[in-house]
Amino acid sequence: MHLKSLTLKGFKSFPDRTKLAFGPGVSVVVGPNGSGKSNVTDAVLWAMGEQSPLAIRGQSMQDVIFGGGHGRKASQSAEVELVLDNSDGTLEMEFAEVSIMRRLDRNGDGEYRLNGARCRLADVLEVLSDTGLGKESHSVISQGRVEAIVTSKPKDRRLLIEEAAGLGKHRKRRRRAQLKLARTQDNLDRALDVEREAR
Ligand code: ATP
Repeated sequence: MHLKSLTLKGFKSFPDRTKLAFGPGVSVVVGPNGSGKSNVTDAVLWAMGEQSPLAIRGQSMQDVIFGGGHGRKASQSAEVELVLDNSDGTLEMEFAEVSIMRRLDRNGDGEYRLNGARCRLADVLEVLSDTGLGKESHSVISQGRVEAIVTSKPKDRRLLIEEAAGLGKHRKRRRRAQLKLARTQDNLDRALDVEREAR
């Protein structure tokens, strides 16, 4: 699996629709200071469901929307689409190409789309989990992050390694199953109470 293309529109310093195509292997984005290189990685993180404005260097989520400048009016929405090559079937979807799109309007409305179909954030995270991509993944290592990982507490570092090894998805599934079991046990207890009273 690899990132095939990234399309930005109204995102940070990209008011116009801008498509970046990537091939397999290493791609390098070069440019002068402040030209928007880090905005490109912010866009990748954001499209994959990042919920913390701080993680993408903003104060509020609306900061991702182009705020005007260089004679251009501010955009009303930000939109980013990632296209992933899934010909090796890494993502659990029966498509050779998977598109993930996220949009946010200035009024706070937003949406996610998987291959064009509207979906929930949880669906995007589910597709990406176990791949090393997605929220809190290690696919984007920002400046200063390497030092933070090296100096993190052993417990936090273990979580990182488990997530990288793909255990995070199963941990979440186990938690969901435990909650479901607890709810079912509650229902059973209630049914037994009712039966006992009816005797
Ligand atoms: P460096 O090499 O110094 O790390 P960079 O190429 O990574 O720089 P970025 O940090 O990606 O640059 O881009 C910074 C630029 O993006 C700044 O000029 C900033 O004004 C602009 N920018 C960020 N958010 C917005 C926004 N919402 N609207 C318009 N411009 C924005």
